[in-house]
Amino acid sequence: MTKEFTDPWGSTMETIFVDGSAGEGGGQILRTSLTLSCITGKSLHIENIRAARRNPGLAKQHLSCVRAACQICNGQSQGAAKGSTVLDFQPGPVQSGDFHFDIGSAGSASLVIQTLLPALFLADKPSTVTVTGGTHNPLAPPFDFLNETFLPAIETAGFQGSCKLIKHGFFPAGGGKITFNIQPWQKNTGQIIDLCQKSKEPQIHARIYTAKLPEHVAKRQRKLLLQSGLSIRNVEQIEVEDSDGPGNCVMVRLCGSERTTVFTAFGMRGKPSEEVISEVVSLTEAFLTSEAAIDRFLADQLLIYMAIAKAGSFTTNEFSSHLQTNMEVIKKFLPVDFYVDRQKQAYRISCQRL
Ligand code: ATP
Repeated sequence: MTKEFTDPWGSTMETIFVDGSAGEGGGQILRTSLTLSCITGKSLHIENIRAARRNPGLAKQHLSCVRAACQICNGQSQGAAKGSTVLDFQPGPVQSGDFHFDIGSAGSASLVIQTLLPALFLADKPSTVTVTGGTHNPLAPPFDFLNETFLPAIETAGFQGSCKLIKHGFFPAGGGKITFNIQPWQKNTGQIIDLCQKSKEPQIHARIYTAKLPEHVAKRQRKLLLQSGLSIRNVEQIEVEDSDGPGNCVMVRLCGSERTTVFTAFGMRGKPSEEVISEVVSLTEAFLTSEAAIDRFLADQLLIYMAIAKAGSFTTNEFSSHLQTNMEVIKKFLPVDFYVDRQKQAYRISCQRL
């Protein structure tokens, strides 16, 4: 719902009302709303934040997103407190710069970056964002995904950036650091996201990260990967020595000539390696047996870039609730519509200007 009202100084401002319990009901609704509020200059009123989660309201990671959004545009917020389920955000003009944020927990650094990137791409000068927190967290894009899957995908539409992992941070200790360099969007190149063709026979590689864990964990995971039905060419084992705490994740990387897709599963205390490997293998197999060009995670993350360009399309193997919910949030702020075409073994998603 959009509402026009006059502020006490007499200027007319538009506020976008967002229901944080709609659809997926998680943190992505907040992050997408903050980003689009920064981009459009429209104020945001969001209620029922993360209503569908076990611990509703703003957690540290979400608070960091709110503070970071305020900082890049000199914005103001009311309700930015731990556990708060209602937030008002008034953006100012987005400024490029050199920004540093510390989440102060293992909250995902990638998700703070996810909130800021679209707005900083639209600034007139380059920016650098450095975030301290988790770099390899369950239920969030790990650094490797950002670097190898996400950045090359948005680059196809002229959004150029680079990222560097300064230090690994695993859940629950955190303490990792990522730096992101963002160039102003090359909008006049006319390039749009067009990721519809499935990669032809990508090579399959795997990567195992362990930190502060016994050697047998990686060994066992390597064995299980090689016994899986995937034709894995090599398994890279990375022992992270400077981690603040224990950590483990297993990645399967599909390396095609056009793109790389990174799937990840996370190990944690009490979770057998069999389960970790079976998770990452199932994600990979579901994708490989479809006709999709991009995975379900990249799909929901690309929508906003298509919406900024007001054009573009991709095919993905799952019409996830993250994807569906993100479409609805974006449509509240920008004059675009999304079209979903269910094909034989994929969904084709496209975006058009209204
Ligand atoms: P919560 O819902 O608890 O608030 P959250 O703030 O982490 O959690 P979600 O709404 O669940 O937010 O959004 C998670 C984001 O992380 C989505 O954009 C999703 O695509 C991305 N993501 C999750 N897992 C992966 C993964 N394995 N690889 C890449 N991206 C991922």
